[in-house]
Amino acid sequence: MSTRAIFRLVFPIFLSIILVIGCKDRTPQQEEAETKSTGQTDFLFPKGQKGPDKNFTGNAYNTGLLAPDSTYTTIVGNVFFEPGARSNWHTHPSGQILIITDGAGFHQIEGEAKQFIQKGDVIKCPPNTRHWHGATADSELQQMYIVPNTEKGIVNWMEPVTDAQYNAQ
Ligand code: MN
Repeated sequence: MSTRAIFRLVFPIFLSIILVIGCKDRTPQQEEAETKSTGQTDFLFPKGQKGPDKNFTGNAYNTGLLAPDSTYTTIVGNVFFEPGARSNWHTHPSGQILIITDGAGFHQIEGEAKQFIQKGDVIKCPPNTRHWHGATADSELQQMYIVPNTEKGIVNWMEPVTDAQYNAQ
């Protein structure tokens, strides 16, 4: 067997070993960095878990920041919406406050015009009022939410926001 033939035999094995070593499990720090490098918005908090398709159109991720307890009866968390993603129509028994920390999106109370929201905006969603919120078609949205009086409930999910509703001016 010539040297060239041996090389042809050994080189693919060598390459495979290099690739396997290069693909070893990522560290938690690497995974965290990947969830933060979307290119558009800054992540103050972890990206979180993908919201269920029955409650969201597109990809939205929720991370809980503060669980309600008997003293505060308030839940605090963050939702990251990818472009075009939005919640279904829903209500909160005691209302909700949204703090937009990055990106741009929409908030609409049923019967009112769709409202453009962006970084720095603070929005009240009144109690028991049908509404939705989400990102614009071409930008991400980071929104922190505060839901008070959780002893009355947190959220009642309803039907999806249609494309016609989402795109309405
Ligand atoms: Mn809401």
